[in-house]
Parts: sequence; structure tokens; C-alpha cells
Amino acid sequence: MTDTILQARNLVKHFKANAGFLRPGDTVHAVDGVSLDIRRGETFAIVGESGCGKSTLARLLMRLLIPTAGEVEFDGSPISDIKGADLRQLRRDLQFIFQDPFSSLNPRLTVGKLIAEPLELHVPDLTAAQRQERVADILSKVGLMPEHADRYPHEFSGGQRQRIGIARALASGPRVIIGDEPVSALDVSVQAQVINLLGDLGRDLDLTLVIIAHDLAVIRHMSDRVAVMYLGQIVETGPTDAVYETARHPYTRLLLDSIPVAEHGATRTAKPIAGETPSPLNPPTGCRFHPRCPHAQDLCKTETPVLSDDAHGVACHFWREIAETPARAAPKPRSRGAQTRFDLYRAASEGETIVTRNQQGNSE
Ligand code: SF4
Repeated sequence: MTDTILQARNLVKHFKANAGFLRPGDTVHAVDGVSLDIRRGETFAIVGESGCGKSTLARLLMRLLIPTAGEVEFDGSPISDIKGADLRQLRRDLQFIFQDPFSSLNPRLTVGKLIAEPLELHVPDLTAAQRQERVADILSKVGLMPEHADRYPHEFSGGQRQRIGIARALASGPRVIIGDEPVSALDVSVQAQVINLLGDLGRDLDLTLVIIAHDLAVIRHMSDRVAVMYLGQIVETGPTDAVYETARHPYTRLLLDSIPVAEHGATRTAKPIAGETPSPLNPPTGCRFHPRCPHAQDLCKTETPVLSDDAHGVACHFWREIAETPARAAPKPRSRGAQTRFDLYRAASEGETIVTRNQQGNSE
């Protein structure tokens, strides 16, 4: 058994336009040549701006989409062509957490039924009593009460609804959970609690977690390794601490600079990345980041940089020279309490209790 549980090799996903505002024949280059190895038991984060292809990549890894080229392997076996019992087993092993806890739960079903559904599908041998027991157990694992099984999703706050989504994902006993922006629809302080919960579940249940995020602050304290995506390609990947502390790619450095930290007295203001993300219909030649890169040179317009295959990989012709120019200092929060987003995520990762109130004034 290898260390790798989920692997992508030269993954490509192009969408051909046939409707909407695109012209027939237009091709959206959503994912273009992505390779990555996700190890058993780790938390792997994929980050990038909106439209960079990270959600398409997540769906390719889940086999919710079939790649245009390349292959995904789960536990050493290709998954593009599997059918029948093999596909059902994959659906059991690989589960998904959706971004929006408000629309991803069927409002007509009680929480108990929502969690029992995947159990009925994937563990059909359970008796009704055993299923009820499993539902109660899963609810307590995600920090809810067994009596919540009789209530409907609209009776819960956003954070609690995302806990229900996580409970549904856990029901089949998966080995890998992929979360597509699992906390971005939530209030910042509730985000920290849900991140904390995912981290605890990953450790306690020996799960592999793949977290998709547009915000580097969200995954700073929960992920072991990170891949940074830009316009369908991975531009930097490595251990999270290395990527945060010694970011090599100009895009990663600008993303770190763009984290908004102005609330509650942090001493550094956010700096948005200049320029628009180019259209995935017609990606720039050479390095796709060159129209926005402050370090671009002529070579960057014609020659595509290759992602180096060391532990801290980077796809940039000039990263060594750029690394010698200092990046902006990390934000310095006030010393008392969990006050900035960095503080909240750090506090959550260290197990501090953060009590927040939902709109009804109930603590979450
Ligand atoms: Fe910037 Fe050139 Fe590096 Fe691309 S290859 S990130 S354009 S310096």
C-alpha cells in the first residue's frame, strides 16, 4: 500500500460552449495539466481566486466530471471508467461537502432522514434501530444532539446546517472528504468552529481531507500541504508552513498580501491583486500569470514554466531571484483574545473555545 490515496496525472478539463453567452466552439480551459498526490490521512488544501478551476478540479477528483485528458487514481486504481459496484464503492469512500449549507440540504427532510439516506444507500444491511443509533452517533460526532434528528434544516443556524452537511458526508464511512469552500458561506467566527470540527474529525476518524478555498487565511492552520492554482494550473505546492513563510511564486505572494486583515486592529491592510484574471477561453501564452505579474520578463510571455517536482514546487522562471525581494510582513494582531481572522483560525486549530451567537441570539 502506497502513501498516496488520491492522485491526479496531467488532468485536463475543457468545456465546449454550446449555449449561453459563449460562441459555439468556444472552449473554456478550466483545468489544464494538473498533477498532484494526496497522501493518506493528510489535510490537503487547494487555493486560488474564483474561476481558477479549483472547484472543477475537486469534481474531477470526485469523478463527478470525466476529464478531457489525464487520469485520477483512487487507492492506486483509475476511476474514469469505473461503473456499477466499483462506482458505488467509490461514492462510499469519497464524500463531498458543499459550499452552501442553505441550499445543499433538502428542506423537506428531517435531519435524521438526511443522514439516514446515505446509510440506506451504502450500508443497506442495517436495521431501522441500528440506523437510528448510527444517526445519533454521527450527530454527536459533529457537535449536534440526537434529538436534532427530528428537526428540519430551516430550524438551524448556518454553522449548524454545515455540521449537518458534514454529518451526511460522514454517514457512509468515507476515507476521503472533499470540501468545496466548506466555510465560505458562514460568518467568520463560525468558520473557525467548523474548521476546528473538520480538523478533529480528520484526526479522530483517520480521514483524508481535501479543502478547496479562495482564502489562504482559512486553511493556514488546518492543512498539512497546499496547492495554489491560477487559471487552471498549479503554480506552487508544498508544506503549508513553507508556502506561507517562504512563498516562491509571485501569485502566492500577492495572494498572501491580499488577505483582508483590517478588522479589529491588525496592523497591515489588505492589498488587492492588480488586474483582472484573464479569460479561461483564451489563456495567455507562456506563463499564464504574466499579464499581472510585477516581475514578468520577455521570456515569461513565450515559455511556459514547469512546476518543479521538489517538495516545495513552483512554476516560475525567476522564483529564485524573486525570493530575494522581501515579501510584506505577516499581519500583527493585537495580543489580547482572538480578534482577527488569523487569530480565530489559529485559536480554533489550537482547540480554544470560541462562543459566538447566531441571528437568534443562540450560542453556536
Ligand atoms: Fe512572473 Fe515570469 Fe514567474 Fe510567471 S514566470 S510568475 S510572469 S516572473
